[in-house]
Amino acid sequence: MSKHIANLNPRQREAVLHIDGPCLVLAGAGSGKTSVITRKIAYLIEECGMPARHIAAVTFTNKASREMKERVSGLVKGKQARGLTVSTFHNLGLNIIRREHKSLGFKPGFSIFDAEDARGLLKELMLKDGDLDTDHLDLVQNQISNWKNDLTVPERAASKAQSPGEAQIAEIYRRYNQALKAYNAVDFDDLILTPVRLFSEHPDVLEKWQRRIRYLLVDEYQDTNSSQYLLVKLLVGNRGGLTVVGDDDQSIYAWRGARPENLALLKKDFPSLEMIKLEQNYRSTSRILRVANHLIAHNPHEFEKALWSEMGLGEPIRVIRCANEDAEAERVAMEILSQRLKRQIKFKDFAILYRGNHQARLLEIKLQAHQIPYSISGGTSFFARAEIKDVMSYLRLIVNPDDDNAFLRIINTPRRQIGTSTLETLGHYANERHISMFAACQEIGLSEHMPAHSLERIQRFCQWLNHIGTLCRGEEPVAAVRQMVEDIDYEGWLHQNASSPKVAEKRLENIWYLLDSIKAILQKADGEDVTIEDAIAKLVLRDMLDRQAEEDDEDQVQLMTLHASKGLEYPHVFMVGMEEDLLPHRVSIEEDNIEEERRLTYVGITRAQKTLTMTWAGKRKQYGEIIESSYSRFLDELPEEDVAWEGNGQHNPEANRSQGSATLSSLLDMLGGKKKP
Ligand code: ATP
Ligand code: MG
Repeated sequence: MSKHIANLNPRQREAVLHIDGPCLVLAGAGSGKTSVITRKIAYLIEECGMPARHIAAVTFTNKASREMKERVSGLVKGKQARGLTVSTFHNLGLNIIRREHKSLGFKPGFSIFDAEDARGLLKELMLKDGDLDTDHLDLVQNQISNWKNDLTVPERAASKAQSPGEAQIAEIYRRYNQALKAYNAVDFDDLILTPVRLFSEHPDVLEKWQRRIRYLLVDEYQDTNSSQYLLVKLLVGNRGGLTVVGDDDQSIYAWRGARPENLALLKKDFPSLEMIKLEQNYRSTSRILRVANHLIAHNPHEFEKALWSEMGLGEPIRVIRCANEDAEAERVAMEILSQRLKRQIKFKDFAILYRGNHQARLLEIKLQAHQIPYSISGGTSFFARAEIKDVMSYLRLIVNPDDDNAFLRIINTPRRQIGTSTLETLGHYANERHISMFAACQEIGLSEHMPAHSLERIQRFCQWLNHIGTLCRGEEPVAAVRQMVEDIDYEGWLHQNASSPKVAEKRLENIWYLLDSIKAILQKADGEDVTIEDAIAKLVLRDMLDRQAEEDDEDQVQLMTLHASKGLEYPHVFMVGMEEDLLPHRVSIEEDNIEEERRLTYVGITRAQKTLTMTWAGKRKQYGEIIESSYSRFLDELPEEDVAWEGNGQHNPEANRSQGSATLSSLLDMLGGKKKP
């Protein structure tokens, strides 16, 4: 028997061996779906002799794709795995666009607008419009994103509009797309939509890609949206080289257009689909599983799944009431310190999961105070930092001079004494001539429109940037970027603007780290030519950040949102903020969207291997006010015999003991807690 299937159970084995047609593995958390994908990749390469470059595996988050890469490289020896694609949907899309930019009419250095860039652009359009309130920015941005994910083009959005308000948004959508095109830019949703459009309109290009990707594997299939699904369908064609795995109970991206119905649609679109269910869980104790199963049973079900495990009964799930959010964070830090000693385990065996990124701040403060090493993944990460955005904007402008957004961000950062009126004049001039601001700077005609000293400053800037651009495309791009940072005295600028020299130093370090990342990407050429354009595009997608991969090996507590935790597992998991309005989230309560929040809770619970601890705070600051909170309704949906409530005012020797070096606040909290009704 192939070594890649030797220790799989019979159903998993079946899924790996089924290669003559499309295959769907539909199964609950921790049942080895991702394992099926990694084993199948190894099997295809080593047993079926399929060259790795013809195989592509797609996941949802960067962290998940890094994990998958690691798992595969543990199974397949170095050389054989060369050329294998393991990436997120967005990265796959980016790859296609990069290679096909000519057929798409993009200039090579196209920019990728992240959510913040897109928002800035929309705001500008709406302000120009004057009649649409920018308070509606979120709504407009979401609506446009939904349209894109549902493959609705602006014309169709306009013709389908049910109200004047909707028609107005459709009009903004049209102008937004037009502006993106003028900027030679794509947004995140376009990374999927553009290849779909390309493939639908150019059968020859599609055929080329079908020859390239002969086998496609998709993890977390329940979270694909319509455009992602179509991309899969197009790539696979009628050859059936497709394996998808998913769990409808873990669908947590409906708000981003994910369609769990895509699971059912598969059967329709691929009539020969082989459907395989897995029921044994290899991750969690029976108690953790029972709690998860019990909770999710409150949602209606299309596919019944019964998970069981042989990992032993395990400890009860602890639910700890804390006096307030401060005490909660302190308690978690204390628990980690004492559990680590008691169980003789490492910091990296712990994960703290929360609903929203803002919840991390207090946890960070407490972890730092107790010198507990930690790492935060996802959320407002490296690339959201101002200093990184600044330097990236310089680079974006170098590779794509049409990127007005980048131009405006850096034209006065650091200050170049180019005034608002100069910029306004420049903007008008560029608009009238349908050229970008950077191009306008270099036009002779501009001299009639502004004073000589302004013009000179602008032109000096352009000449300098062009010069750096030439260096970047030369032999030593990294040295060129370094010179750029030095030329603008960015260090001096950081020191002027940071609250302390230490902060400035830290920011400067981030810049050097960014440079190292660029260097790493350029070196990882793997036989292919990697240009500075490619490197910048990749960086925007945050995928090549090896720092996080390095950090994963370090002994650090892992902090992340519930959304980001999908697919991952940790021996000891804390879920904090188990309160009404947080989980379920207030917006979801208002929109009657409890089922998705329940699935999110299910995802959190099923990350835990050995112990699960949930905490909630009796009081919490919300919108500047301290509010009495009540615990999450989901806690009432857990089986009573598997849950131990703590902090309820009763004498509980077990809880006291595990407290170890509890602080005053958590002790007070234990005494003052409420009893579960
Ligand atoms: P999720 O739904 O959370 O993404 P999953 O179904 O993808 O979970 P995996 O992450 O593949 O599950 O597997 C969960 C754990 O079980 C992993 O640690 C994996 O190594 C282990 N595992 C999977 N299959 C087996 C098996 N046949 N024997 C032993 N361990 C297994
Ligand atoms: Mg998985």
